[in-house]
Amino acid sequence: MPDNAPTILMVDDSRLARAAMADILQGSGYHKVLEAGSAEEALGLLNQRVAADMGQGVDLVLLDIVLPDADGITACGQIKNNPLLKAIPVIMVTAQDGQADLQAAFQAGAMDYINKPIKAVELTARVRSALALKLEMDRRKAREKELQKLTRQLAKANQELRMLSSQDGLTGVANRRFYEEQLDKQWKQCARERASLSQLMIDIDHFKEYNDRYGHLAGDECLKNVATALEESLKRPSDLLARYGGEEFTALLPLTDAAGAQVVAETLREAVEALAVENLGVPHGVVTISVGVACCLPHPGQNPQCLPAAADKALYLAKEQGRNCCRVGEVAISA
Ligand code: GH3
Ligand code: MG
Ligand code: MG
Repeated sequence: MPDNAPTILMVDDSRLARAAMADILQGSGYHKVLEAGSAEEALGLLNQRVAADMGQGVDLVLLDIVLPDADGITACGQIKNNPLLKAIPVIMVTAQDGQADLQAAFQAGAMDYINKPIKAVELTARVRSALALKLEMDRRKAREKELQKLTRQLAKANQELRMLSSQDGLTGVANRRFYEEQLDKQWKQCARERASLSQLMIDIDHFKEYNDRYGHLAGDECLKNVATALEESLKRPSDLLARYGGEEFTALLPLTDAAGAQVVAETLREAVEALAVENLGVPHGVVTISVGVACCLPHPGQNPQCLPAAADKALYLAKEQGRNCCRVGEVAISA
């Protein structure tokens, strides 16, 4: 007998009746037959199999409507009200004169009924169709479960993909693509709210010398450390740090005015200086950054690129005026 052969639980207080039914079932090829003599015994057995994670272990219950302890209808209701058992189909077994109870049995969740005395053909036919339905329902549930699992995996993969496509591979901060999207978005948002939008352009000083002296791998490591120091110095959740390219970073600061942006710029400059990453052969002796600051009140019709352009000009000024410093630029207003 294959292991996935169905298991049938017969509940009847008459040992003779159970033996007769078992004979018919086994004669029809259903060899996994369990027996219970009362409702309590039947529920105990079902619960025990659920506890042992064998909830699917019973595929069909043949339930006598008249039992010594509780009546079969109550027992059927108890099975159907238990979330772990309710998928098991129940066929009520009734005496010929018990037809009046049938409505209550169906209301309690019974799937079908069969009259006593049991006729082999009738029992086999009803059992077969109940089991076929149960099998179909089990398959559908398994497919649904599999589909849910795949949907979850897909959502996770999509999320990872979205993250990867917006992240800089070396430093882990946002990449240029994500920054450009955010610039457009924050520009519109600040225009709507009539709020300031500030931007910092950040460039590592004398980084070519660093690479030449310590090697490209050390250069990469230094870029990562600088990125982390910058990221950790930005406090507001809406602030965005991105790698703009090469050894250049940018910070987008929504709802931040020029004075605030200058404070942030100075904080970033100090944070990198405090890393004290040795860069011998340059005036400061350690890795430093220069920062260009720009701030404006965005207008919906204006090109947002005027903001990074102004920050870039200010950065150029900071480089000219000795590096390891911050300078502020004017945003050119054009319609
Ligand atoms: P300045 O103070 O004027 O900015 O001088 P600088 O040497 O930093 O400027 P320059 O633009 O001449 O050199 C930038 C250097 O940054 C050159 C390039 O090799 C290095 N660089 C850019 N991207 C990376 C990177 O991903 N990894 C490493 N290790 N170096 C990089
Ligand atoms: Mg540089
Ligand atoms: Mg540069």
